[in-house]
Amino acid sequence: MFNQHYRVRFAPSPTGSLHVGGARTALFNFLLSRKHKGAFVLRVEDTDLLRNTNTALAEQLRDLKWLGIDWDEGVSQFNAPDIGPFGPYRQTQRLEIYLKLAEDLVKNGKAYYVNSNEDHGAASLATPLRKAIKLKIPTNKQYEFNDLIRGPIKINTNTLDDFIIIRSNGLPVYNFSNPIDDHLMKITHVYRAEEHLYNTFKQLLVYEALNFKVPLFGHLSLILGQDKQKLSKRHGAVSCDVYREKGILPEALINYLSLLGWSPKNDLEFFKIEDLIEKFDAAGFNAAPAIFDEKKLNWFNTLHIRNLSDVALYERVIAFDNSVTLNSDKTFLIKLISVIKPVATNLEMIANLLKRFNEDLFEIKSETLLKFDITVLKIVISLWNKALSKTDNTFISESQFLQIIEEISKESRHSGKNLYQSLRIAILGTPSGLDLKKVVPLIKLESLKRRAVETLNQIDRMS
Ligand code: GLU
Repeated sequence: MFNQHYRVRFAPSPTGSLHVGGARTALFNFLLSRKHKGAFVLRVEDTDLLRNTNTALAEQLRDLKWLGIDWDEGVSQFNAPDIGPFGPYRQTQRLEIYLKLAEDLVKNGKAYYVNSNEDHGAASLATPLRKAIKLKIPTNKQYEFNDLIRGPIKINTNTLDDFIIIRSNGLPVYNFSNPIDDHLMKITHVYRAEEHLYNTFKQLLVYEALNFKVPLFGHLSLILGQDKQKLSKRHGAVSCDVYREKGILPEALINYLSLLGWSPKNDLEFFKIEDLIEKFDAAGFNAAPAIFDEKKLNWFNTLHIRNLSDVALYERVIAFDNSVTLNSDKTFLIKLISVIKPVATNLEMIANLLKRFNEDLFEIKSETLLKFDITVLKIVISLWNKALSKTDNTFISESQFLQIIEEISKESRHSGKNLYQSLRIAILGTPSGLDLKKVVPLIKLESLKRRAVETLNQIDRMS
């Protein structure tokens, strides 16, 4: 049973893929609804026909689901028999509601028709079909509300003009349909981005004109880039799908986003969604702008990767890139994952490293070789090759490997980076930071030999 006294919503306009700022707004509302056992409504604000697309909507829904942000009412709903048939909530399917209320306002003298040439915003749309409707604004009246995050905020209507509520194409503007829906959907708390602060006053005028009870408002902190400017595409990846495609785990993104403008008021930072639901409360909101730091997100990703069991991580990796299963069985891949996990930063990196264990995919890029001193590579790898040819088990054990390393080091007089990077190239084709004493015992001797010979051939071709 939902607590009907606590109803929040996320109201995206599907103009593009899900922005990290939008995801944070959705997350905070979702967490609050779960914490208070209330309802989380998803309402699609798609009345800007020029900018909204079904593709963007589908992408946004996919990414919300990927993040684990599920809604109780909205474009698709799960079973909630105790609250009745809700949704789908798409404003384009509710146009007659807004029109009817606007016409009522005209009848009451609170709004009036204007010629379509006053509707500049609709100029680019199809031929106007009707007169636009404007809301009358009381003159010199003070409006105030107590923002749940920022405290009391005031405005005088002298800074506002009468504004269009229904455009000449019959569609409502955001500041009209948004408060109407919040009222009809019984939203109790409106948490949204700070950029809507000024809109809130226009919406208060709509609530007043329609005699609707005003919900509580909280405006979340801005999210800025490293240069302290508002986060935008200029700053690189700002949409969730880019992070999903890079192999960031949804739990890492959730964890990172939860700390942008909110804090649990202690030093703890690592949270899974269930911890957040338990700990989340509106008292932790912070009005000061938050800085988006991709490095920190990556750091959270390493933590969440390490937090998964090898089997769970295997499942994530194959869901991310199924081609890693080619010629490799599950048990083997899980063993490899246990070796890769301590150095892994994202799923893409894990998938790429797994492929390096696949005999058929072994390759060394010439650019990689060019970064190293060819003479050193040649000496170390030749000694490695020699040591392998003297061994005849199917696999090399960890202690055998350590002994070989010692011998190569003595003979070549190379140690540390020179020695290990050269061996890494001859074993995996890349100087990745995997722990070789763990990696080598997992690869068949035969394959190690072939790899070493191929590397030496490639070096010869280069020199
Ligand atoms: N459709 C608006 C947006 O995407 C919703 C703002 C609000 O939450 O009121 O910014």
